[in-house]
Amino acid sequence: MSADADTTLNALKALIDPFIKERDWERFHRPKDVAMALSIEAAELQELYLWDRKPDREALGDEMADVLFFLLDLSIREGVDLTTVFNGKMEKNKKRYPAALVKGKDLKYDKYER
Ligand SMILES: [Mg+2]
Repeated sequence: MSADADTTLNALKALIDPFIKERDWERFHRPKDVAMALSIEAAELQELYLWDRKPDREALGDEMADVLFFLLDLSIREGVDLTTVFNGKMEKNKKRYPAALVKGKDLKYDKYER
């Protein structure tokens, strides 16, 4: 069984605040800066695939963890319940991309004839 199956988002979030407070980094973790760090870490993740490289598994995991860290951190700073917004966004995506209309196609939602 994977750790993902047995771990809640709240359990992961609970690791973030102590990590930041023990280092006296609260003043640096403003939402704007956390959002920027999230974007930077996402770019580092992309870099692993640049020029059709095959990512090293450890580096891939490290960058995915960095992205998750800052996403969870931002959700804490902004008081956003990730499960609620994720479920809401999936409902929007189902409406934007009805399977019967978009199956096998890669267009943006506003490019489909309805
Ligand atoms: Mg990184």
